[in-house]
Amino acid sequence: MKIGFIGLGNMGAPMARNLAVAGYNVTGYDTVAPCPDGVMQAESARDAATGQDVVITMLPNGDILRAVAADIYPAMSAGALHLDCSTVDVASARDVADQAQNAGLLAVDAPVSGGVGGADAGTLTFMAGGTDAAFAKAQPLFEVMGQKAVHCGAAGNGQAAKICNNMILGITMIGTCEAFALADKLGLDRQKMFDVVSTSSGYSWSMNAYCPAPGVGPQSPADNDYKPGFAADLMLKDLRLSQQAAKDADADTPIGRHATDLYATFVEKEDGHGKDFSAMLPRFASRRRS
Ligand code: NAD
Repeated sequence: MKIGFIGLGNMGAPMARNLAVAGYNVTGYDTVAPCPDGVMQAESARDAATGQDVVITMLPNGDILRAVAADIYPAMSAGALHLDCSTVDVASARDVADQAQNAGLLAVDAPVSGGVGGADAGTLTFMAGGTDAAFAKAQPLFEVMGQKAVHCGAAGNGQAAKICNNMILGITMIGTCEAFALADKLGLDRQKMFDVVSTSSGYSWSMNAYCPAPGVGPQSPADNDYKPGFAADLMLKDLRLSQQAAKDADADTPIGRHATDLYATFVEKEDGHGKDFSAMLPRFASRRRS
């Protein structure tokens, strides 16, 4: 199977490299980043897509995805698969899938969970939307780049699953951080707080697997001066996608909206830019009730 890979940033480069290591013939293109070892360099996105069985994209946002899709679809072979692994808005994912169908192509939206570490180790989780035939064609590639792929339904449903998951994540991280800051002010030791909550009904992935308090719970970015990890900027991007989707679908998500506003303030008006998303804990700890 011949693969084109467009978008070789923090996530795309190790994913493309893992496919090349697994023996696939991979040709890559990025406007800035170089190709990783084992991946052949194309001159343009169109060049990388021409004559391939599968074209994978790993791009920053929906506008760029739409532009790249419009550029490459006329060059792709009939019946080829476009596998988009970027995190983008549901509407862009569905529009691009429609265009792929009109061009005689298969399409899957398959955003990932697992971060740069998972991309590097080939242990990503994929949440996929698209037809059964398109998902089946992508399956062997999911097995190389990841450890699990869930077929969530029709086009766009992969993005829907991703943003709903990350809306819960943003909300639980904020709740965990503000509870730690309250516990501090009530004179409760952070380790005791972890021991109770991680085994009580307040537990969550944010508390148990990614504890935002340094020196407490498993190793996490809190133990590395809040270097990402999963950057607050990316959490803000995903929360904004959740709110855009909620608006389009007329869904009431008041806590999701409030989490979005808090991360926007943290990243754009305070010192959250470039920090891990769990750095909400020192933020709350340094504040007084407003
Ligand atoms: P990144 O910014 O490191 O990489 C994106 C790459 O796309 C860049 O190298 C950029 O030069 C390239 N690019 C932009 N426009 C292009 C174009 N027109 N043609 C070709 N290349 C182009 O971002 P990343 O961290 O690799 O994330 C990629 C996607 O994965 C995003 O949608 C992000 O939300 C998602 N994601 C990231 C993480 C993470 O932890 N980094 C985790 C899960 C999902």
